[in-house]
Order: sequence, then C-alpha cells, then structure tokens
Amino acid sequence: MTQHAVVIAGAGPTGLMLAGELALAGVDVAIVERRANQDLAGSRAGGLHSRTIEIFDMRGIADRFLSEGQIAQVAGFGGTRLDISDFPTRHPYGLGLWQNHIERIMAGWVGELAVTFYRGRVVRGFTQDDTGVDVELSDDESLRAEYLVGCDGGRSVVRKAAGIEFPGWDPTMSNILAQVEMAEKPPLGIHRTALGMYSFGRLEYEIRDGEIVYKDVGPIGVMVPESDVGCTTEPTLRDLSEALIAVCGTDYGVHSPTWISRFTDMARQAATYRDRRVLLAGDAAHVHSPVGGQGLNTGVQDAVNLGWKLAQVVKKTSPESLLDTYHAERHPVAARVLRNTMAQTALMRVDDRTEALRDTVSELLAMDEPRKRFAAMMSGLGIHYDLGPGHPLLGRRMPDLDIVASAGLHRVFTLLHDAHGVLISFGEPGALDLSAWADRVRLVDTKYLGEWELPALGAVAAPDAVLVRPDGYVAWVGDGSDAGLTDALSRWFGPPSVTRR
Ligand SMILES: Cc1cc2nc3c(=O)[nH]c(=O)nc-3n(C[C@H](O)[C@H](O)[C@H](O)COP(=O)(O)OP(=O)(O)OC[C@H]3O[C@@H](n4cnc5c(N)ncnc54)[C@H](O)[C@@H]3O)c2cc1C
Repeated sequence: MTQHAVVIAGAGPTGLMLAGELALAGVDVAIVERRANQDLAGSRAGGLHSRTIEIFDMRGIADRFLSEGQIAQVAGFGGTRLDISDFPTRHPYGLGLWQNHIERIMAGWVGELAVTFYRGRVVRGFTQDDTGVDVELSDDESLRAEYLVGCDGGRSVVRKAAGIEFPGWDPTMSNILAQVEMAEKPPLGIHRTALGMYSFGRLEYEIRDGEIVYKDVGPIGVMVPESDVGCTTEPTLRDLSEALIAVCGTDYGVHSPTWISRFTDMARQAATYRDRRVLLAGDAAHVHSPVGGQGLNTGVQDAVNLGWKLAQVVKKTSPESLLDTYHAERHPVAARVLRNTMAQTALMRVDDRTEALRDTVSELLAMDEPRKRFAAMMSGLGIHYDLGPGHPLLGRRMPDLDIVASAGLHRVFTLLHDAHGVLISFGEPGALDLSAWADRVRLVDTKYLGEWELPALGAVAAPDAVLVRPDGYVAWVGDGSDAGLTDALSRWFGPPSVTRR
C-alpha cells in the first residue's frame, strides 16, 4: 500500500493551501481530488480579503494574485461597505478575482513544491488505528497515512465517515446561481423585491472608482431567489426560468447555461475539527451563506493554522496535543463567521422593518469605531487567538514592518516565506538565546523605530521582542527580559533539542 505522512482529501483552496504549507515544511503530502484538473465549473468566490492577501504575501506569492485581480474595498456588513484604506497593513483592500483563477494560481504554486496528486479519484472512506489511517479510494486502492485531513467541502465524506456531528441552522432562504446567455439584456446590478434580492452581472468586469463596471459582452451571472427552500435536487434551466419569471416577470430569454447551482443560508459547523488522526478544514468544517465572502478566506486560513502544527507533529518535534490548538483557535473563528453571516442574511430580508434596521446598522457602521471593529472582523485582520493575557500583540497577526537587520532592510513577511517560526529581537543583539530551538526557529536581531499599530486597536506599546509562529501570529511578546520565552518556545515548537529524545 502506498504511504504518505499526510493525505488530504480535496484540492479546493483549503486543500491546496494545506498541501503547500506541509510541503514547505518538508512533509510527504498527497492530495486526492475528484476533479481531473483544477478547472472549476462556475465562478463561486469572488475574491480575497486583506488577511488572506497578507498570508499569501507571507509565503511570497501575493503578487501572483494581485497581478491578475482588481484591488477594491470589498469588506462590508449587511450591505454597508466598510472602507479599510486607513488600516495599518500593506494591503488595505481586498481583491476581486474569481475562485477559478484563485485555484489555478494556488495549484501553480503547489505544483512547484513536492506534493503528490491523485487526481480524478475520490476518497470513499477510511479506518484509523493507533499508528495511522487507511484511506479508501474510488478505484479500490488504498493509501496509508499518518494523518488524513478532510478538505473535501461542505458535503465532506471524511467528516461523515468520522462520525463528526455537524450541528447548526437549517436554511431560511435559497438562491439559484447560474452562468447563462440571455436573448434580452437584463438590468445589471443588485435589485430588491418583496420576494428577495436578485442580481445580474457579467463575468468580466472592471472596478472603476470603487464601482463595478461590467463588460458589454460575455456570459451573464444570475442570482435569483427560489420559493422552495428545502429543494435537494440539482437546479435545472427550467427551475431557473421559473424563478426568474416569478421574481422579474420574465426570464429574459435565458439559454445555454454553463453552470447552474444554488446556495442557501444554512449555517453548520463541525462539533470537533479533530478525531484522533483525522482532521477537518475549510468547508468540510463549516458552511454558511456566502454573504461577506468569507468561506474561501476562512478555509485558507484554517489550512495555514493547521499546516505547521501538523508538520511538527509528523516530524515528532511537537507532541500530538499541539493539534488540539487547531480546533481551539479555529473553531471560534468560524463560529463568529457563522454568526455574522446569520446576522447579515437577517438584514437582507426585504420588508419595511428590516429596511429600517438595515438603515440603523448602516448609520452605526458609519461611525469610526464600529466601522473599524466590523471591518477588522470581515477582512480577517482582527483575528485574535486566545493565548492568554498580556500584550495586545499576543495571539494577533504580526504586522509586516520594515525592519533593519544584518543584511539591510527587510520586511517581516519575507522572514516567513519558508514557513518557519522566527524570534525577532528589537533590543541588544545577542540578548536572547535560542540555541536549543535553532533547528526550528530563526533568531533575527533587528531595529525598528516606527509606530506599532494594529487594525481596530490602534497604537500599542513597542515590544522588545516577538516570537512569531509560522502562520504569522505572535506567540510571545518580550518586555525587556526573556521571561516566558522558554515556555512559549516549548509550547509552540516542542521541547528544546538537548532534552528531546
Ligand atoms: C456562490 C458562492 C459564492 C461564494 N463567494 C465567496 C466569496 O466571495 N468569498 C469567499 O471567501 N468564499 C465564497 N464562497 C465560498 C467558497 O467557494 C468556499 O468556501 C470555498 O470553495 C471552500 O474551499 P474548500 O477548499 O474548503 O472546499 P471546496 O472548494 O468545496 O473544495 C473541496 C474539494 O474537494 C473535492 N472533493 C469533494 N469530495 C471529495 C472526495 N470524497 N474525494 C476527493 N475529492 C473530493 C472537490 O472536488 C473540491 O475540489 C462562495 C461560495 C459560493 C457557492
């Protein structure tokens, strides 16, 4: 039986990111993917939020996305746009780029790394024992892995086979989404009716002065509400035509669909992200309405949280308990996404009272403090892992500062390209001793004289040193001494080399 250290089910954005992270750490990783290639039917996610762009920047690949997409203020809440252009980040914006392009670029990056692909095959199930997992594939073959990660989307076979519960909320609304041709030109843009919101747009667009300007030709993307919320069969052209006629009074001569699908506001989250040697990430672990564009971003960030931890456990530099911090940190993040999508879908209802509520929320969000708080939440820049009390940087993203180190000027994010931990000391060179972790964490003595500012929080006290995890979150903050550093290094990077067996 073929063996790999880690097998990932699913090469969507989450599986690709996780494979990349594991490969960077030198772990033998394989992906099993149903699709024969990376092509994606339909457009799905429309772009990236600021924190995901930062994550790609940390790995040195942000420009690949930025050069193909269109930067814009994409963060919003319940229909109110939230401008983040004053946020202290190198990327105070989001990026308009369809998911098929995002996946193509990610797959290109993963293709440069040592990742084995089993394409055109499906994970059917698995059995796990104390030492590994037997992963059953559709061609009656099996793979043996130390760990299996289900990145296989909302209907995850891995989650179901693991018997992990998926509690949450049933849908209250359903929309058909499609890419079609139309004999008559529909009114492009978003419209509200008593039956719900509907929209028409062209796949090709430009963002000018913050507004979407659609090209004159090309396939039309349609979103239209359907009256039957509980429908489980795949929607057809006839269903689309009927839904259009019910809402718009005409189907605009709809024909030649290239893709018809549906989304709902169902919100569910896996009760646990780990069952011994099996883990879940991305849509396999959480599903919700696409409002706010958070699904793909949350999945990619799950993968970046899990990748280095799983790599260290596989390499036996860290105990298995490190994997429990994955659930502890990422479950609350997606729980918050579920709640904010539920709040936003409630605000999207079309009746006078909801309209009044939406106006009220919009008024509140026009104030600076609420805008910053909500924008930090929606852009992912405000994520805070609970690593205990201490300096505001603890558990928050390390800012991409311009620092002066031995070989000249550096950006902090360039220190993270290889997905290693880094201890950045801003004090006396040589003041901190890292020798017992030197194989896992790099020490950089540097100077930084600028402001320390965090999104939504504002200015914070300058630290003397920070321990930055491979996922870009701060695990320890020094205030003139090394108190707590040994504990933090052991907690996040395993016991010191001298005592390791
Ligand atoms: C209409 C719509 C609009 C959206 N808009 C946004 C947006 O603007 N921003 C945003 O962030 N998110 C958005 N999303 C959500 C986003 O598309 C998903 O959250 C994202 O694709 C999740 O990535 P994933 O890799 O976790 O899962 P998926 O993308 O579902 O990938 C799962 C992969 O696993 C494969 N697979 C499934 N089962 C198996 C199996 N048994 N064996 C092997 N392979 C398998 C599939 O072929 C697929 O490639 C939107 C979604 C929809 C439907």
